[in-house]
Amino acid sequence: MAKYIGPKCRLCRTEGKQLFLKGERCFLRDKCAVLRRQSAPGMHGGKRRNKMTGYGEQLREKQKIKKMYGVLEKQFRLYVERATSAKGVSGTVLLQLLERRFDNVITRASFAPSRSAARQLITHGHYKINGKKVDVPSYILKPNDVVEVSEKAKSILPIKSSIENAAKRNRYEWLEIEPDKFKLQVKRMPERADIDPEINENLVIEFYSR
Ligand code: SF4
Repeated sequence: MAKYIGPKCRLCRTEGKQLFLKGERCFLRDKCAVLRRQSAPGMHGGKRRNKMTGYGEQLREKQKIKKMYGVLEKQFRLYVERATSAKGVSGTVLLQLLERRFDNVITRASFAPSRSAARQLITHGHYKINGKKVDVPSYILKPNDVVEVSEKAKSILPIKSSIENAAKRNRYEWLEIEPDKFKLQVKRMPERADIDPEINENLVIEFYSR
């Protein structure tokens, strides 16, 4: 599947769920397209889709999770393969991999205004992991890893203003975030209870095992 370059809010409206793709705007009730208007995009957007079952439901869930984490099909399939061959519950392992992606952790900690901005800032080398510059957004973090904003990047406006707004955002128990030090630590593996309860990861595993 090619990279989607259309309006991000449209992706949320298609799923009927906030996917948090636009940073600060997503937290403002009067700015978020999903919170303002509960209809699917398109001419007949007023009518929501009928409830799907089986294959359609599995496909929809897979697409939703890919959009949430900004992962393309090829890489997503590799995550599924890695999850199904690992010990533990495959669906939970899949979500743990996605949550521990470098770009996701930066977004969760509000060290960047959005996931796409996080990806760009990472590739520009503005963050360090355990003291070393890492410019790969898909890097998977491990417990005890420490992420810091590089000295030069602390004055970059999108990073600075995002960290200043961090207090308004959700807290993630598996991350120790120190906004004043521009630093975070992965305290432990994210558990299922730490991750969006509206995701049905089992449907995704079923989709790929057909
Ligand atoms: Fe999705 Fe954010 Fe747009 Fe709301 S503002 S529809 S959460 S991208």
